[in-house]
Amino acid sequence: MDDLDPYIPEAGANVETQATVEQPEPDVLEYDRYVVAFSGGKDSLACLLHLLECGVDRNKIELHHHLVDGREGSTLFDWPVTESYCEAIATALGVTMTFSHRVGGLEREMLRENTSTAPVCIPFGDGYKVVGGDGPLGTRRKFPQVSANLSVRWCSSVAKIDCFARYMTNNPKFREGKTLVLTGERAEESKSRANYKRFEPHRSDLRNGRDYQRHIDAWRPVHAWSEQQVWEIIKRWRITSHPAYYLGFGRCSCRSCIFGSKDQWATVREIAPDQFNQIASREREFKITIHRSESVIERANAGTPYDSDPFWIEIANSRTFSAPVFIDPWVLPKGAFGESCGPT
Ligand code: SF4
Repeated sequence: MDDLDPYIPEAGANVETQATVEQPEPDVLEYDRYVVAFSGGKDSLACLLHLLECGVDRNKIELHHHLVDGREGSTLFDWPVTESYCEAIATALGVTMTFSHRVGGLEREMLRENTSTAPVCIPFGDGYKVVGGDGPLGTRRKFPQVSANLSVRWCSSVAKIDCFARYMTNNPKFREGKTLVLTGERAEESKSRANYKRFEPHRSDLRNGRDYQRHIDAWRPVHAWSEQQVWEIIKRWRITSHPAYYLGFGRCSCRSCIFGSKDQWATVREIAPDQFNQIASREREFKITIHRSESVIERANAGTPYDSDPFWIEIANSRTFSAPVFIDPWVLPKGAFGESCGPT
């Protein structure tokens, strides 16, 4: 693990974080709708399963996923199967699935040259609506950089955080009743995540608005959970986790996540050579690499590809999740408790 900022207190240190202090929890059953920010990864899956175990009405639950490559043809960053996997989970568990995306995905933003950041496509009524896209002209022509600073590591804000905020603030359904937004950050993932609050008004909340109100709370139900607890709830429900875990990835990030370890870049080169070569070629063109000191080629050369099962490589690289959603006997995927490189 070379990029994550692991939370490892020094021996004997008296550390008090949001994970260890007593924190308020929501009255879980009192909301009109529940929106789970669903990456397809194990922690957001645990949030969904926890909601169901709390007895929340499935008709009130919506999984929402951000398509980081958009829907306009780019395949540079994400696992092709993720959209289908998310849909399969939602269908199997009887909850609603919705998507949003930045038009053109991360690749368009990366190549931006004297143009505005693209608009965002959000769910609206029975269809979709395109909002924004009228910001100042600017030039990017570089990859997101490995950094905890979101202005440099712009992929999270462009493809996820801003898309979600625009959905919340532009869809009038959030002005009706009370909404609980669930996200899967866990304290043990990083020092900064350890300091997140477990329950607070969401950043899009406007419960005291003058002209209209939006009551939106944010809850991190698995914040204090260990990875063991996350896998236990998934095992309890006998659910097949995202194919990335079966390949050996410890986190379900983008396939070409900027935080990839050396072994992960070596694996990406092996299982997605076209995308890997495009990234290597863009690094040369931009004259700035994703990782501050090494190119993706240097990182892949220093790593060892995971010994991945061809069955799972094919599914992970497919647009259709063709494996069963429920498996019995349930098997812990090989990526569990492994390298968990990812955004902090
Ligand atoms: S998973 Fe990695 S590459 Fe994808 S948006 Fe997050 S930090 Fe960026």
